[in-house]
Amino acid sequence: MADDEGVSHRAPEEAFGLFSHELRVEILFALWAADGHALPYAQLQDRVGERDSGKFNYHLSQVTGQFVGKEGDDYTLRYPGHRVIDAIRSGVLHREAEVDSVSLDAACPDCGASLTFTYEDYLGRVGCLDCASIVLSFPFDPGGIQDRSPPAVAAAFDRRTRLFWRFALAGVCPVCAGVVETRLASGAGSELDSHYADDHPAVLAVDCAGCSFYNYPPVGIAVLAHPAVAGWLYDHGVDPRTTPAWAFDCVVDPDRITVRGTDPWTVTVTLSAGGERLAVDLDERAAVTSLERRPADTDARL
Ligand SMILES: [Zn+2]
Ligand SMILES: [Zn+2]
Repeated sequence: MADDEGVSHRAPEEAFGLFSHELRVEILFALWAADGHALPYAQLQDRVGERDSGKFNYHLSQVTGQFVGKEGDDYTLRYPGHRVIDAIRSGVLHREAEVDSVSLDAACPDCGASLTFTYEDYLGRVGCLDCASIVLSFPFDPGGIQDRSPPAVAAAFDRRTRLFWRFALAGVCPVCAGVVETRLASGAGSELDSHYADDHPAVLAVDCAGCSFYNYPPVGIAVLAHPAVAGWLYDHGVDPRTTPAWAFDCVVDPDRITVRGTDPWTVTVTLSAGGERLAVDLDERAAVTSLERRPADTDARL
């Protein structure tokens, strides 16, 4: 069915229901594994190993259209079919995974002990075992754990989490491509009960209008991608592309966030690198409004 804007709709429950029979998922995987993601009818039936032609034909017809296309004699995997496979390969639908904890080359902002990466219940966490505190946390799919050593999982967790946050801060949902709003909010607000950054005077609140994605990244994340900040860091020996989020004091240390007003929200984020400091002001939408170099900092972490 197509509406006035030419967008066709199917009830989501109906779309999910289409995969109630495993043969339909096997059809998608057979096309995915084929050259050009395309197979003629007889080869497709052969690949999924279903000898009952009536049964095979019925289940193929149920996924043909939205998930499987028809080009000449070939059945092809359409973009929505790829996305079904992606959801399965991410592992979140059917797998749980474990990762050994990883000692990280970064210090706890409270006690100075090494931070540790752990993974449990689909969440990557970076925290201090001595303080029993968490400084960063974000979901990570079990599909990202196979073929990686624990330190490589920690590195992948950092890259992926920061890209997800960067998408969201750019207004695009990293999960569904919907519209994401960003605002500053109190870290101790009731909506953030037991959130890892609830000791921060402010956090970023990002919320997708189209799906269940929402998150409260540390405010320091908003400044790292700004070109002037990235340039300042690079000039001070810190490459923001390869330095993990947990190594930035402006991300893990609440003392680096100063709230200057709440109506509207304005905050100053202070970075340190190479013994110097940079103060970055953000407006209520977490956009950088000004930068100021500060005198040398004797306890700079970076
Ligand atoms: Zn600690
Ligand atoms: Zn979304």
